[in-house]
Amino acid sequence: MKAPPVDSPRATGAQRLRLVLHGAVQGVGFRPFVYRLAREMGLTGWVLNSSAGLVVEVEGEAAELERFRQRLEAERPPASYILAREQSWLPAKGYTEFRILPSDEAAEKTAAVLPDLATCRECLAEMLDPANRRYLYPFTNCTRCGPRYTIILDIPYDRPRTTMRGFTLCDDCRREYTDPADRRFHAQPNACPRCGPRLTATVAQTAGELAAGRIVALKGIGGFQLLVDARNEEAVQRLRRRKRREEKPFALMMPSLDMVRQYCVVSEAEAELLQSPAAPIVLLRPNGRPGIAPSVARSSPYLGVMLPYSPLHHLLMRAFPHPIVATSGNLSDEPIAIDNDEAVARLTGVADFFLMHDRPIARPCDDSVARVVRGRPSLVRRARGYAPLPIALDRELPPVLAVGGHLKNTVAIALRRQVILSQHVGDLDTLEARNAFERAIADLCRLYRFQPKLVACDLHPDYASTRWAARSGLPVVAIQHHQAHVAACAAENEIREPYLGVAWDGTGYGTDGVVWGGEFFLVEHGRFERVAHLRPFRLPGGEAAVREGWRAAASLRYETFGAGAVGDTPLLRMLERGVNSPWTTSVGRLFDAVAAMAGVARENRFEGQAAMMLERAIGGLEDDEAYPMPHGDWRPLIEALEDDVRRGLPASRIALRFHNALVNWIVEVAARMGVRDVCLSGGVFQNGYLVERAAALLEARGHRVWTHQRVPPNDGGIALGQAVLAAERI
Ligand code: ZN
Ligand code: ZN
Ligand code: FE
Repeated sequence: MKAPPVDSPRATGAQRLRLVLHGAVQGVGFRPFVYRLAREMGLTGWVLNSSAGLVVEVEGEAAELERFRQRLEAERPPASYILAREQSWLPAKGYTEFRILPSDEAAEKTAAVLPDLATCRECLAEMLDPANRRYLYPFTNCTRCGPRYTIILDIPYDRPRTTMRGFTLCDDCRREYTDPADRRFHAQPNACPRCGPRLTATVAQTAGELAAGRIVALKGIGGFQLLVDARNEEAVQRLRRRKRREEKPFALMMPSLDMVRQYCVVSEAEAELLQSPAAPIVLLRPNGRPGIAPSVARSSPYLGVMLPYSPLHHLLMRAFPHPIVATSGNLSDEPIAIDNDEAVARLTGVADFFLMHDRPIARPCDDSVARVVRGRPSLVRRARGYAPLPIALDRELPPVLAVGGHLKNTVAIALRRQVILSQHVGDLDTLEARNAFERAIADLCRLYRFQPKLVACDLHPDYASTRWAARSGLPVVAIQHHQAHVAACAAENEIREPYLGVAWDGTGYGTDGVVWGGEFFLVEHGRFERVAHLRPFRLPGGEAAVREGWRAAASLRYETFGAGAVGDTPLLRMLERGVNSPWTTSVGRLFDAVAAMAGVARENRFEGQAAMMLERAIGGLEDDEAYPMPHGDWRPLIEALEDDVRRGLPASRIALRFHNALVNWIVEVAARMGVRDVCLSGGVFQNGYLVERAAALLEARGHRVWTHQRVPPNDGGIALGQAVLAAERI
C-alpha cells in the first residue's frame, strides 16, 4: 500500500487563502472576530460582508493559513454558525495589513440559494431522544441543516416557493418557525411527525431487506439511490447486472467515521471532508482489510465512501450498521430518478423494495465526489452539498450561458463576477440525459432570472450540447475543449498570464480536426499557443478504440516496430490504409494502450477504467525510474516497455515507469517554456499519483502548480472555462 496521504501543505512561501462562508456569520460579531484572529496571527488580507456570503482572504505561510482556518472554525463567535463554506488556495497578492472592507451592496442576489446540508448534531440528538417529539422522525431539520437546493422552486427562498408548500405547519412547528430565538426560526423545510412528510415503508423493514441481500431503492435528498449490503458479493453482483453497470466502482455509505477507518486510510483532511456539511463521497485508499465485497470497486485504487447525511440515512444506518453500496438510482448512465412514479417505473426490475416519501424533489442532485489532493479538498463531481454555490472570478463577465461538453456534463451561467455551475448532469448519450440537460439550463436561467446574451459550447460539432447551442437562436462562441479545461483551472485559481496549461484527457476535438488529449498551451496575451503535444497515433476503429485499448496498443506497435508487430490482420489493414483510423494526441488513449501492453486492462468497461487500473497497479511502489519519452514521442517508450514485458517485469514497475515518464515530460516542457505558473487540467489529472508527483517535481524546480479545487478536472469543469473564454472572444 502507498504511504498514508500527508496533510502537510507545501512550504513555498506566501499563499492566499480565500474562505467564503454562508450561514449566521453576519451581525454576530464575525468580522471583528476574524480581524482580531488574523492580526493576532500576523496574517494580512481582508474580510468582507457581501450578499454572496462572508468572504475572508488571508495571506501568509501555508501552514499558518491552515491553522487560521482551523482556529476560525473552532473559536468563532458562539452565536454564529457556518452552513456552507468553500475554500480556495490562490496566489498571494502581497497584502500589507489586515482590514475590514466596507460591505459590498452591489453584489448579485445569489446568496439565497444554498446547497443541501447534512443533518446537524442537534437535530440528530433530537431524533435519537425518545422524549423528543421528533424521535426517529426522518425529516427532521433546522435552520442549520437539511435540504435547500433540492426543495427550492423559486426565489426568494420561502416555504410557499419550496416543495414543502403542500405541508401545513402544525401549531408546534409554527411556533418554532416564527420564534426568532428558536433554532427553527424560518427553517423552510421545518416538519414533524404530525405535519410533515411521511415514509411509504418503515426503516426497520428496509433494514430487513438489506440484511436479506435485497436491493433497495431509497428516495434520498437529490434523487433515488440504490442500496445493497456491501459485504454481500452475490448481492452486489446482482445490482451490477440489473443496473447494467459492469465494473464502474460503486460508492459506499458507512455508519460512522470509525467504521470508515476500519476499511480505509483516512487522513485528518479526509476526515474533515467526510464530516463536512456537504458530506460528499470521498475517494479513500483502502487499507486492505477484508470485508467489502470485491465487486464494489475492482478497478479503482480508491474506495468512494460517504457518511449518512440525511435523517433517513442516519436512521437506516442505525438499523443496519454495516457498509452499504449507495449508488444513483438509474440504469447505467441515465440521469438519477427524482419522482416517485418515475422511479417505480424505471427501477422496477432493478430494486426489490422501495423506501419512498411524499416530499417532492425539485431538481436532481447526485452525491458529490471529492478527494484530498496535495493535502487539500478537490471535487471530482460537483453536485449535492456544493451546487449552486457561486465560483467567484477576478473579472466581470457578460451574460454567457456555457453548455459544457458531452460527458459528465454541467452547464454554467455567468452573473457578472460570479459563475454558477450547475450540479452534475451526466453523459448526454441518452434522450433522458438530454432532457435533463435542457431542464438544467431552463432551471438555472429561471432561478437566477438570467437571460443569456450568448452561448458558449464545445468546438465538437456533434456534441448534443453543441447542437443545442446552434438551435438556441443566440450568438454562439465555440471553445476548443482543452483550452476550456485550462481556462477553467486558471480562472478558479485566479492565475494571471503567462502560464503553462497542461490539458490531458481522453478525447476532445482539436482545431485541426485531430482528436486531442495530450496538449500543452502557453497562454499569453489572451492567446493559446499549442507549444507541445503527444506524438499523434492512429485509433484503428475510431470510437471502438476508445473502449478497446488493445487497438491503440496495436497502433503504437505498428508505428514503432512495423507491420510484423501486429497480429490482427483486419486491424493491420485498417492501419495500413488509414481507414476509420483517426489521428489522436490523447494521453488518455496512451494510458489505454499501455494498460493493454502491460497486461493490466485490455479494454475500458467505463470511461477511464484502464487508466485507473494502471494507477492502481503501481501499488505502493516508489522510485524515480522512468521510460524515455523525449518531447512527447512515445516510440522510445514503447520500445523500452515491450522489452520490459518480454523480460517479465511486473506490471507495477511498468506502470510506475510509465507514470514517471509522463511527469518527466511535463517537467521538461515547463522548464523549456520558463514560466512560473503551471495549470494541470483534464480527466487524466484525476490520477492521484500523476498529480502528486508532477506537483512535487515542478515545485522543486521553482514552478507554482495549480490544480482544480472547487471545479472538477474532468469535463464537469469545462463549462466554467467556456464561459471565461467566450467572454474574451466576443
Ligand atoms: Zn439541524
Ligand atoms: Zn409539525
Ligand atoms: Fe476533457
